[in-house]
Amino acid sequence: MSNHKSLTLVGEGNKGARIHDLVKAPANTPWAKARQQSWDANEPATVYFTPETLADGTPTSAVTVILRTKGCHWWWSSGCTFCGYFNDTRDDVTNEDLHAQWAYAKNKFDDFKDHGMVKVYTSGSLLEDREIPVPFQETVLRDCQELGKELIVESRCEQLTEEKLEWATSINTSFAVAIGLEAYDDEVLRFHVNKGFTTKSWDRAVTNLQKYKIRVKTYLMFKPPFMNEADALLHGVKWIEAVADRSDEISVNPMNIQRGTIIDRLHRHNEYRPPWLWSLVEMITRAHPTIHPQGTGNGGAGQVSRLIVHPTAGGRVRGAHNCGACDSHVVAAIERYAVSGDIQEFDGLACDCQKAWAEEVALEHALPTPLGISKPRRGNLLNALRAP
Ligand code: SF4
Ligand SMILES: [Zn+2]
Repeated sequence: MSNHKSLTLVGEGNKGARIHDLVKAPANTPWAKARQQSWDANEPATVYFTPETLADGTPTSAVTVILRTKGCHWWWSSGCTFCGYFNDTRDDVTNEDLHAQWAYAKNKFDDFKDHGMVKVYTSGSLLEDREIPVPFQETVLRDCQELGKELIVESRCEQLTEEKLEWATSINTSFAVAIGLEAYDDEVLRFHVNKGFTTKSWDRAVTNLQKYKIRVKTYLMFKPPFMNEADALLHGVKWIEAVADRSDEISVNPMNIQRGTIIDRLHRHNEYRPPWLWSLVEMITRAHPTIHPQGTGNGGAGQVSRLIVHPTAGGRVRGAHNCGACDSHVVAAIERYAVSGDIQEFDGLACDCQKAWAEEVALEHALPTPLGISKPRRGNLLNALRAP
């Protein structure tokens, strides 16, 4: 009898790598450790402002304060497959450091006097006591209340208990919570994202937020790891439809490749192409009737939610991109849609590469190619076919 073993679609009998180990490996490398220690804990990672819209639709500008923190507690124990926030954190940040960072931001923008909104991002959850000392949570909530600024903070689901929200709303009566849900699909959350919570925990968190009249912003991810373009498009539209009536705002983040992540490795191995900008246009076009059933645009009658797509690194190899020639026009139209909610922003957009994109999506619908067939995915064909 020969020892020849035929290859099967389920591998060669070797034990599979744990996703946890794959996620953690780069964070423990000497370059990552050295980088973490290089940050000044007294200054925020960045502070800048951008045009925004208040909850009632009034145009304003928003200061975004990205704080240098200890990072996300889910990252400490495992971590999401695309999250590169560990690059920006230091594990010894104290309450005093955070207060110094906050004072720096307020000082830089004169107590935010020319801005109606403040977004405070912590590379994790502001309301998580293990990450952010409670006195600092209180400072942010209280200052924004006293200064009369609409506040947006980010959080995972498990912190948003009735008890925590009761406490937070006793200090600040007008804030919004942005949750990185990524996908309204438990399989995708578990096997593609390694999110560490389920759609049920999002359901519960949203019920609690609504009980305390806190606005809900939902982040969805377009094209998570181990997914082809055609599936990303189908899922992207489905997830928007699933969360629209429970989200005041839906922000779809097209995958951009952050250093040291699983998606970074897939990308380097030519096994992942960031989304096409055409897919984003198509996703918005398909989801638009759900968001604006009366076709009236942002602020119009019957608006169910607000849909924002912001292609970070749009047009670059590591962000959502097309052929290179048409990218800036398409990115600009997508950004305009986020402001207007008017589907006509996409009228007249055209480029030869649209054919290649359409062909790719059609083939991926027709063939069993979970990792996709786009040119930058010319990795090992057998591995691609075997992929889950
Ligand atoms: S929950 Fe958010 S911050 Fe934490 S690992 Fe996942 S993406 Fe990163
Ligand atoms: Zn093009």
